[in-house]
Amino acid sequence: MKITSYNIKNFRQIEYMKMLPEEVKQEIEIVSKVLPFKANNYVVDYLIDWNNYETDPCYILTFPNRHMLREEHYHKVEQAVKKGLPEDEITRIANKIRLSLNPHPAQQQSNIPKLDGEPLPGVQHKYQDIVLFFPTQGQTCHANCTFCFRWPQFVKDLDLQFSMKEIDQVIEYIRQHDHVHELLFTGGDPMIMSPRTIKKYIDKIFEADLKNLKTIRFGTKSLTWWPFVFLPNYNEEAQEMLDLFKQIVDGGLHLSIMAHFNHYQEMGNEAVKEAVRNIKATGAEIRTQSPLLKNINATPEIWSTMWEQQVHMGMVPYYMFIERETGPYEYFQVPLVEAYNIYTEAIKYSSSLAKTVTAPSMSAAKGKAQVMGIVENPVTGDKYFNIQYIRHRDASQTYKPFLMHFDEKATWIDQLKPVMHKIQLLKKQRQDQYISSR
Ligand SMILES: *Cc1c(COP(=O)(O)O)cnc(C)c1O
Ligand code: SF4
Repeated sequence: MKITSYNIKNFRQIEYMKMLPEEVKQEIEIVSKVLPFKANNYVVDYLIDWNNYETDPCYILTFPNRHMLREEHYHKVEQAVKKGLPEDEITRIANKIRLSLNPHPAQQQSNIPKLDGEPLPGVQHKYQDIVLFFPTQGQTCHANCTFCFRWPQFVKDLDLQFSMKEIDQVIEYIRQHDHVHELLFTGGDPMIMSPRTIKKYIDKIFEADLKNLKTIRFGTKSLTWWPFVFLPNYNEEAQEMLDLFKQIVDGGLHLSIMAHFNHYQEMGNEAVKEAVRNIKATGAEIRTQSPLLKNINATPEIWSTMWEQQVHMGMVPYYMFIERETGPYEYFQVPLVEAYNIYTEAIKYSSSLAKTVTAPSMSAAKGKAQVMGIVENPVTGDKYFNIQYIRHRDASQTYKPFLMHFDEKATWIDQLKPVMHKIQLLKKQRQDQYISSR
C-alpha cells in the first residue's frame, strides 16, 4: 500500500472532493490557513463515509469547516484571501488568530526540565514517575486532527515546538532521576518515524542499562491514520517495527502503545484488526484514549460501542479526556456535566473490562483532574461537582476528592468556584476588593 498525502495544495484532486460544492472547498482553503489540514488516501478511501460527509466523524476529524473558527476570525481570513493579499500577509493574520486560541494550554512550557542547569527543550516532566520525549522526527502526523491541541507544533513559525534529536540527554536525565520509571515517546506521532530511527533511540536506551526505567510508551494515532505501519503484507518496513517492539519486550521493558481512537468507525476494518493482532503478538499492550468531542463522539452510544469493540479486540480502554481550551475548542467542547453524564451512561452498560476508564479527565495546569460525580446536599438542595486529581505535580495531592460549586455551563476546572465557609468567602471577597481597588 502506497501512501498519498493530501494537503491544502492538492486536496482538490481527491475524487470525492470533486463531487462536493465549490463553496465547501473554499471554506476548507480558508479555515486551513489557521488549522493545518493533512490527510491521506487511507483516510479518504476507507474511513470516511462520503455519502454523509457533513456529519461523518472521520470527515469532521480531518477536514476543517468554517464553524471551527469564530465568525469574526473566519471573515478576517476570508477577506484576506478574497482580496488576494500576499501569502506572508495572510500567514501573519492567521498567526494572530492562532495566538488568540490559547496555543499553550495547561502551562506546558513550565514542564520543561533541566539537566545540569540547562533546559531540555524536547522533554516534559510533570509527574514524578514519567518523562515525555518529543523526538524531532516524530513531530508531524499522518493526518491532522481538526481538534488537536498539539496544533501549534505543526506551525513552525509559532515556535512552540517541543522536540529534540538527542536521546543522550534524555537518558542522562532519567539516570539522574531515580523515581522516573517510564518514558513516553510522543509528538505529533512518533510512529511516523521509520523503525530504523526509533531503533537508534531504543538501542541507546538498552545500552545505557537504566535500572530505574521499566516501561516505554508510544503515543500514536497510526492505528487510525495509517495502520500499515504494522502490516508487513502491505509495507516492507512494518516487520522491522514489529521486531523492534519485540526487542523492547524481550529486553525486559514493558511496552505500552497509547492508541488514539476518537470513534468506532476508525477501528472497524480488517487493516486495523490485523495491526492490533500484530502489535499484541509482540508482547506489547495497547491502551486507548480520546477526548470527548462535540460533533464527533458526544453520545454514550458511541463511547460504549467504541469501548466494547476495543475490549473485544484485546485493547485496554484508558482515558476519556475533556477537550482542552485550545485551538477550535468552542466547536468541540462539551460542558463538564454533559461529559460526566455521557461517561456514566456509556460505562453503566459496558463490559467491566472497559471500566479501566474511571471518569472523564482534564489535563489541567496542576494535573489530571477527574469529574467523579455530582452530589446534592439533601438539606439545602445545593449541587456540587466532586473532583479529584488522579495525577498532580505534587503526588501527595492525588486521590483527595473535593467539592466545587455546580455550574452547568462550565467546561473546565478553572471555571468552577471552590466551596468555602461563609467567613472564608467574605474574607476572600474583601481581599479581592482590596486588590482591585489599589
Ligand atoms: C497524561 C500525562 C502523562 C501520563 O499520565 P498517565 O496517567 O500515566 O497516563 C504524563 N505527563 C504528562 C505531562 C501528561 O499530561
Ligand atoms: S494524531 Fe494526535 S498529535 Fe496528530 S493531529 Fe491527531 S491528535 Fe494531534
